[in-house]
Amino acid sequence: MTLLDGKYIASQIRNELREQVAAIVASGRRAPKLGIVIVGHNPASETYVANKLKACADVGINAEKIAFEDTITEADLLREVAKLNADNSIDGYIVQLPLPAHINEQTILSAIDYRKDVDGLTPENVGRTVQGLPSIVSATPRGISELLSRYHIPTEGKHVVVIGRSNIVGKPMAMLLMQRPYLSLPKLSAAAVGNATVTICHSKTTDLKSICLTADIIIVAAGCPGLLTADMVREGVTVIDVGITRVEDANAPKGYRLVGDVDFASVAPKCAFITPVPGGVGPMTIVSLLQNTLQAYLQ
Ligand code: NAD
Repeated sequence: MTLLDGKYIASQIRNELREQVAAIVASGRRAPKLGIVIVGHNPASETYVANKLKACADVGINAEKIAFEDTITEADLLREVAKLNADNSIDGYIVQLPLPAHINEQTILSAIDYRKDVDGLTPENVGRTVQGLPSIVSATPRGISELLSRYHIPTEGKHVVVIGRSNIVGKPMAMLLMQRPYLSLPKLSAAAVGNATVTICHSKTTDLKSICLTADIIIVAAGCPGLLTADMVREGVTVIDVGITRVEDANAPKGYRLVGDVDFASVAPKCAFITPVPGGVGPMTIVSLLQNTLQAYLQ
């Protein structure tokens, strides 16, 4: 069994990005710039935003936090989105989710210029990915593609089971896997994921176990700790655990620990490859946002 070390691969990619950005700046051009819109004071969102700002600084990408009070109206936030679309100093931006209940997330996301949509969540980017056109791909599926690719795990002709059908993970992941490779992801990515036979499972799927037992690769993004157990996987499978759930743990320094969707202790011995949680998909997601920002800058 080989652990897929997302922390290590992400640090390799950060080194590559740092060199690419340094070369851009050395040639006399300005560095890429990411905007991060945050509405309100959700503590988890504040932490994610702080991590993204830090990650940008680490590779030389400029980043600006654009904060609004949670009293902002949907109409005013749409006006701010329009300003960002028109701002030539910002190459890409994200709107940190969730937004307050009085703002329709889809309305806001749909207003983002798809060329600046470095979260890959606009209908344009999703549609372009579906059609195999160059697009900005949502960070987590992009990161998983990089991880599989850099560990030389082929997907061609393989049966990949994706558990979860969210817009940010399950759906775009399944789309990338079933396509011909290289159509959506740009050349700057080493990812060569595609040509797989994909089954998408979700909360209404009956007999998840039988389906998983036919999988060569299982990607689980359900947010259900311990969902995938040893009796559901065959020997030699590759397992990508996207799930992150906080579980109270009085012995942990922060009072909680992070667990994935896989019963790691029982599943790992049967795997050819498996991601740990934490240290697997999580670090890849952040570095993918940086790659997407550079992609938006270069296009
Ligand atoms: P979500 O929470 O929007 O939806 C969960 C999906 O799982 C749904 O499509 C649902 O149908 C499916 N599901 C739920 N229970 C199931 C079950 N028992 N059997 C089969 N399918 C089931 O999904 P999301 O936003 O993609 O998040 C999923 C998990 O991944 C969460 O734990 C989230 O925190 C984590 N996540 C991690 C990263 C990362 O960088 N590691 C990024 C995004 C999300």
